[in-house]
Amino acid sequence: MIQISMPLNFLGGVYREIRQALVDMGEMFDLLEQPAEIKDKPGAPDLDVRGGAVELRDVEFAYDPARPILKGISVKIEPGQKVAIVGPSGSGKSTIGRLLFRFYDVTGGSLSIDGQDLRDVTQDSLHANIGVVPQDTVLFNDTVRYNIAYGRDGATQDEIEAAARAAQIHDFIIGLPEGYETRVGERGLKLSGGEKQRVGIARTLLKNPPILLLDEATSALDTETERGIQEALARAGEGRTVLTIAHRLSTIADADRIVVLEAGEIVEEGTHADLLLKGGRYSGLWARQEAEAA
Ligand code: ATP
Repeated sequence: MIQISMPLNFLGGVYREIRQALVDMGEMFDLLEQPAEIKDKPGAPDLDVRGGAVELRDVEFAYDPARPILKGISVKIEPGQKVAIVGPSGSGKSTIGRLLFRFYDVTGGSLSIDGQDLRDVTQDSLHANIGVVPQDTVLFNDTVRYNIAYGRDGATQDEIEAAARAAQIHDFIIGLPEGYETRVGERGLKLSGGEKQRVGIARTLLKNPPILLLDEATSALDTETERGIQEALARAGEGRTVLTIAHRLSTIADADRIVVLEAGEIVEEGTHADLLLKGGRYSGLWARQEAEAA
């Protein structure tokens, strides 16, 4: 019996890890379209997060050497700060997210967390410290509880509920026919985009990462849903360093700093109010978006 159960336990662990990796990859699909083969340095230590400061220093990057995408980007995010990256489609915003997750290595300059170059630490520890709230949360054909608990092995029901409350989805869940035991996903109850996103937020909150990478939804949610999601995200960001990749501007007006990217270069930086006053690129983007919304 012992002889049999040990390898099975071992396989169970590996299986869980593989599934977790697949969830992370699936969730990152928008941000991280094409994971490359990046290997840890031999004997690399784990990332040691103290405050969660993120620094891009003269970052250069190209998917194809003939076509530079990021051309010397420097951004310093202090622990607990909220920074949003905005800019036209194709300017390189999501690429920054992919580099932070080290799905690619920078081709020039460096990217570090609390002073540790991402190339020098294990990828597992890097991924464990960055929570991603993707545009589209992948749900398993399993219970709501299971879908949230995926954020952390061994989470208790109390912890799961606390995460769901913070993500403002708890009340919705307890109203379902079987509460937390209700099956969701393709073969279960289908959740709306906003509900799925909240499950994703709860999952990330349970993981309790010091750094959050938010990939702002491009698809328009109705105003009420969007407000709920924004509140949930704001709560999720409390006490964490947050980098938002913003495809729209309406939701990032209260960021500590907004970085405007154009063709792989930073063209403006400041708060929403600063940038509107300045009357430059950001205020142009803002005016265009307001006009489209009207
Ligand atoms: P959007 O707001 O439309 O999502 P973005 O600012 O996030 O745009 P990125 O996804 O960072 O833009 O892409 C920047 C540039 O890099 C684009 O020109 C894109 O075509 C190119 N690019 C993105 N992913 C790859 C890839 N895997 N291989 C080659 N080029 C890529």
